[in-house]
Amino acid sequence: MLKMQLSSVRYLATIAKNSTPKLTDVLIVGGGPAGLTLAAAIKNSPTLAGLSTTLVDAGDLKKVGEFHDQPPEHFTNRVVSITPKSLHFIAERAGAGDFLLRDRIQPYDGLYVTDGVTKSLLDLEKPSMLEMIEILNIQSSLLKKLSQYDEVLDGFKLVEKSKVTKIENTDPKDPTSWPLVTLDNGDVYKTRLLVGADGFQSPVRKFANIETRGWFYGTFGVVATMKLQYDTYKLRGWQRFLPDGPIAHLPLPGENATLVWTTTERISKLLLTLDPKAFASLVNAAFVLDNTDLQYYFDELEAGKISTNELIEDVKFRMDQEFSKLSDETMIDELYPPQVIDIKGDTRARFPLKMTHADNYCSHRVALVGDAAHTTHPLAGQGLNMGQGDVEALVDALEKATQRGQDIGALLSLEPFWAERYATNHVLLNMADKLYKLYHTDSAPVVALRSLGLDLTNNFPPVKNWIVKTLTADTEF
Ligand SMILES: Cc1cc2nc3c(=O)[nH]c(=O)nc-3n(C[C@H](O)[C@H](O)[C@H](O)COP(=O)(O)OP(=O)(O)OC[C@H]3O[C@@H](n4cnc5c(N)ncnc54)[C@H](O)[C@@H]3O)c2cc1C
Repeated sequence: MLKMQLSSVRYLATIAKNSTPKLTDVLIVGGGPAGLTLAAAIKNSPTLAGLSTTLVDAGDLKKVGEFHDQPPEHFTNRVVSITPKSLHFIAERAGAGDFLLRDRIQPYDGLYVTDGVTKSLLDLEKPSMLEMIEILNIQSSLLKKLSQYDEVLDGFKLVEKSKVTKIENTDPKDPTSWPLVTLDNGDVYKTRLLVGADGFQSPVRKFANIETRGWFYGTFGVVATMKLQYDTYKLRGWQRFLPDGPIAHLPLPGENATLVWTTTERISKLLLTLDPKAFASLVNAAFVLDNTDLQYYFDELEAGKISTNELIEDVKFRMDQEFSKLSDETMIDELYPPQVIDIKGDTRARFPLKMTHADNYCSHRVALVGDAAHTTHPLAGQGLNMGQGDVEALVDALEKATQRGQDIGALLSLEPFWAERYATNHVLLNMADKLYKLYHTDSAPVVALRSLGLDLTNNFPPVKNWIVKTLTADTEF
């Protein structure tokens, strides 16, 4: 009996200890690229370094950090196209430049975009226009930078494997009161500013009652790390718009490339089950052959009527036929991406694709950055870049507020951040959405109009330059 009473007392004491709120100036929920960049940029900023900052993530960030110390031999499959501006922010203002694994980053010199139904194309060229980087490279280098900060001396704390389970205001009747954030281990934090860098489902956005609008496309992005037949001749990204969605083949260092193939749920499931060599062969086919050929292969594979070897032979035969139609002076490597010969390990995966945009990025004591505020179709490679832009604008706003002696959680301090980002993100989200819809059809009048538009654009340098500037975040709206 006495033993039971003692254990109850100990239990209550633990609850009391845990639920005494720990105070922090900034609480960031989410250790994805957006949350980690923000934490590092705050601690690296001479103006903001004095703010006590806590970052909480449900995942195993120690495991993420191991990528830096023991990088895997193969390139991982979550690879993004990042703008030089975003990379510069991570390297310089977040201070992670010394930790980035540079030999795993591939700058590339443009995008070669083709219409899979007609022959129209858009050839965008600019030296080092964009860079391909693994998300784990971004996260682990930021974690390395953050590991330099001590909890007591520098006021930075990383809380991993802990899920935020409840958020409420200290005074439920006062929305300007500091948020109280409860974790699944019982700890409670009381914060001056709560930042939701917590992805698409964002518990912070839900707490702030910020509406988000958008839709699922009903299609999936199939990703994979690909082994090429030989080193890339042209360091460019290749994208072909097929009626089921675009397929993109983007360069990685050496004889490697990464794939994002947007397709229907049915085909995405099929692609993940295929023999790697059959999958590689279909990727090659998707850049050269007609959509009818591809649909024929999908049907035959689903029905089990064609073996991997027969598929490879047939694709090769039909592709050679296409290549033989080219004039003698035409270099195949100028028109088509290098051929894929294999898929690395278990790098094939699929993600549902969606477009969402929050009505606002801030409310009293709350700011949203990255996928918590918006998600986009990957065809324009903007998702992570928009998140980096949000972080930069938020850091600028917090620096200004601090210099003026304002409360960093006050709406007055946060509003310049969302005012700067909302319109820019809105334009980019709409651009990706409209492009996807324009190409997600083989209706003859639409195809004719879009081909005319693409050809005109390709022959009109000012518009091409504007597109390059938009994709590289080198312009303001
Ligand atoms: C197929 C595909 C290809 C893409 N290609 C590109 C590209 O080329 N270029 C580009 O810019 N973008 C691209 N993107 C988009 C990009 O990957 C995302 O925009 C980016 O990774 C989002 O980062 P984030 O930090 O905002 O969110 P996330 O990476 O989603 O991080 C959210 C974090 O919050 C944590 N979290 C959530 N809820 C809780 C909770 N309750 N408690 C504690 N922690 C919590 C999660 O554990 C997670 O770590 C692509 C996306 C896809 C699907």
